[in-house]
Amino acid sequence: MSCVANNIDECVGLILDNCIFCKIAAKQIPSKIIYEDDDLLAFNDINPAAPIHFLIIPKKHLPTLADCTASDTALLGKILLLAPQLAKELGCGYGMDANGAPQGGFKTLFNTGPDGGQEVYHLHMHVIGGPRPWRRSLA
Ligand code: AMP
Ligand code: ZN
Repeated sequence: MSCVANNIDECVGLILDNCIFCKIAAKQIPSKIIYEDDDLLAFNDINPAAPIHFLIIPKKHLPTLADCTASDTALLGKILLLAPQLAKELGCGYGMDANGAPQGGFKTLFNTGPDGGQEVYHLHMHVIGGPRPWRRSLA
């Protein structure tokens, strides 16, 4: 496949113009937003695998986890720490019941590349929870 861009800036522009999650972050296409700050956006997955299924994305375009560098350490930490907070707010937090037994909880998942099952090439973490059985596996 050849690139129609004339230079690197044009190429980056073409990628961002065609990225569905960049468009969601820019509010150019609608989504059910559940959290937003300067760096991150969280919204419900359009095809949920479970009763609760949302995605946390950085607003900046990073294609995959494998494209992250040490300069993205704080951003990745923010994504990881937001997951249990939002899971709790949405009703699938992890904790102990009155007898001290573990309850609730959620799955966190980054798909990377074709063999990792990645379909959208803008970094995102799936957060999936709610009572089982779930609709489908994301394996
Ligand atoms: P992945 O296979 O890890 O790339 O997952 C991409 C996820 O994005 C899938 O679970 C899709 O259902 C979800 N998705 C795709 N388009 C949208 C959209 N417009 N709004 C919300 N979720 C989406
Ligand atoms: Zn993007």
